Amino acid sequence: MTAEFGKLFIVPTPIGNLHDITERAITTLQSVDIIAAEDTRHSSKLLQHFGIKTKTIALHDHNEKKRAQHLINIMKGGESVALISDAGTPLISDPGYSLVSACRASDIVVSALPGPCAAITALSASGMPTDRFMFYGFPPVKRTAKQRLFSELVQNNATAVFYESPRRILDSIETLTEVVGGQREVVLGRELTKTFEQYYCGCLDDAINWLNEDLNHQRGEFVFIVSGSGVNKEDIPDEAIQLLKSLVEHLPLKKAAAIVAEHYDLKKNALYQLGLSWNNE
Ligand code: SAM
Repeated sequence: MTAEFGKLFIVPTPIGNLHDITERAITTLQSVDIIAAEDTRHSSKLLQHFGIKTKTIALHDHNEKKRAQHLINIMKGGESVALISDAGTPLISDPGYSLVSACRASDIVVSALPGPCAAITALSASGMPTDRFMFYGFPPVKRTAKQRLFSELVQNNATAVFYESPRRILDSIETLTEVVGGQREVVLGRELTKTFEQYYCGCLDDAINWLNEDLNHQRGEFVFIVSGSGVNKEDIPDEAIQLLKSLVEHLPLKKAAAIVAEHYDLKKNALYQLGLSWNNE
């Protein structure tokens, strides 16, 4: 740590509800020398609202590497910088990685303020296990890449958290259903912290119906959270796995899983997910 260097502050901003800004975020944004913002025009409204007059500079995906070096030089000169994004926590599906890693490499102190993040907000309200979760950000747009990514979920037993745009939410939920089956539990969190905040909780098949039954359900910003596979191979005896393997050669997976579940007193869905994972191996 070099005392005469300025610091970098990572400052989360509201994801919808302006009251979610913290006192510390406001005072930090007021006291730094420069605010690096993803979109200076977008952030100017927020800064004006809180009476923050600090100079801003743009730092976005297309100029981040170059800008990072410029900001490093500024901090080496003793000035402090705050990084903000359009909404939520910078670096979480937002720019900032190059800047923070460059600060670390240059012995510049990085201090992150806690604050709004859509992924954590939705996860904490989802009712799904939070002891192990995987944050994936936005799924790929292209179909094969999307299918390949979702196939990781077939066996993965951690809760999975995704961001999605209103234009692609239905397609992503449909593709996910094709890959993991329609019975997997999902939570769709839309317009969180805003006037029309809404959570839908149910299985994937029902979520598709819900999205289709009213086009308003596809509007706004989304986080979707997918439950873990329920597959914990250690909990399934070898004989049950062997029986399932033999049965699926002659029966649909659903039926085979139901028979093995009954015979060994196991969870049908765990066996179903295990069987699905063989298709993806
Ligand atoms: N850095 C942000 C954060 O901490 O949440 C995320 C930035 S990412 C570019 C934007 C995406 O986050 C949106 O497309 C949406 O998937 C999700 N998101 C942001 N605000 C949201 C909200 N109020 N409700 C639901 N999802 C939101």
